[in-house]
Amino acid sequence: MIISRAFLKQNRKKRLEQGHSWVFPSEIERIEGNPQGGDVINIHNHAGHFLAQGFYNPLSQLIIRVVTYSEVIVDEQLFHDKIEQAWRRRQWLLPSVTSCRVVHGEADFLPGIVIDKYENVLVVQILALGMEVRRQWIYTALKKIFNPRGIYERSDVSVRRLEGLEERVGFVEEPFDTHVTVGENGLSILVDVAEGQKTGYFFDQRENRAALRPLMTGWGLNRGIQVDENGQPKNALGKEIKNPFWDGAEVLDCFSHTGSFMLHACLYGAKKVTCLDISEKAIEMAKANALLNGFLHRTEFVAANAFDFLREQVKEKKTWDVVILDPPAFAKNRQSIEGAIRGYKEINLQGMKLVRPGGILVTASCSYHLSATRFSNMLQEAASDARKVLRLIEFRRAGLDHPVLLGSEETDYLKFAMYEVFER
Ligand code: SAH
Repeated sequence: MIISRAFLKQNRKKRLEQGHSWVFPSEIERIEGNPQGGDVINIHNHAGHFLAQGFYNPLSQLIIRVVTYSEVIVDEQLFHDKIEQAWRRRQWLLPSVTSCRVVHGEADFLPGIVIDKYENVLVVQILALGMEVRRQWIYTALKKIFNPRGIYERSDVSVRRLEGLEERVGFVEEPFDTHVTVGENGLSILVDVAEGQKTGYFFDQRENRAALRPLMTGWGLNRGIQVDENGQPKNALGKEIKNPFWDGAEVLDCFSHTGSFMLHACLYGAKKVTCLDISEKAIEMAKANALLNGFLHRTEFVAANAFDFLREQVKEKKTWDVVILDPPAFAKNRQSIEGAIRGYKEINLQGMKLVRPGGILVTASCSYHLSATRFSNMLQEAASDARKVLRLIEFRRAGLDHPVLLGSEETDYLKFAMYEVFER
């Protein structure tokens, strides 16, 4: 088969050479051959030097997505090897982890696919035409490498339309129970890969959730609790305190989904965690997870819109030691960024008002259109409006199973920060 060739313009930004895996129509000088959507195409620079091979889709703004920088044949074996390499990288960096993202699209040199491993169940999301037409290669490789109990497809995302694809969800072969209990940082977390957000769970915050550990204890003194010479905690009136979690934080976990942050908070010693999500289904899942891990008596659940709930709590002068905000991506594209920033600012502004003096705001954004700098600026504005001073404990990114390509800022999407909040 003759492979078509795309020649790139001389005066384009050298993004491809910098590790970015998308070619835009405006960067192409000419195309030789008659490539069809989904075909492999060779990419050359203006002088004719070979740069890479990619998948071609004339319907998409991402007209070519780089698959390999070599001239190997793009076949089933190549897919198998790439998926296996991606899995080996996780086993190497996260040796004790059995559930994680196995393939993170472009950053694993498999543009437009996401593969998440939930113990012995795999979930696949296909976002590009070149991958769509080769989905059988992906499934064959997955069966060989993992011998899974089942594979579920969650291609229910609207960006597929930009590739000319319809949404699709369902079992790849035989149906199976889509409820899976995954292990994370010593916890058991029940996930529904068919009904949960995205592919069922957010593995990208695994290490960030573990980073909550030191924040969950050390709050008793703030509440006037003293420990006597026998190690017995007593309140300011000298009354003995029975609650074994007397030193633990009172936590508000907003946008809790499966309740993963709540579970970590409880594991690390929180006294009480309030979980909030707009979705009743998510709240049910969080409750089931609290029960599964023996934390039900330290948790409470609210199904409500965070924008309303936060404002109401401020009005009622409620406060917490730690407030966690892990909202969905408010900015879905570059055009909606300004509105999204207003949304982020509003929840962060109200959220920090709910933090007791010296308490902690844990805040995240998974929208890659919002850069880390704009995220920090947004927090700064919210803090100054709320008359607070924030002191950074730690700024973090996505976990090790979500690699970041230096030349591709889209792969660096998650911001996660923990701040102490002071009055001004
Ligand atoms: N913290 C979770 C992930 C959050 S995903 C984790 O670590 O797994 C975002 C969640 O926000 C979803 O569960 C969604 O139902 C919820 N959500 C979206 N809009 C909301 C709103 N306005 N108020 C409250 N929850 C909302």
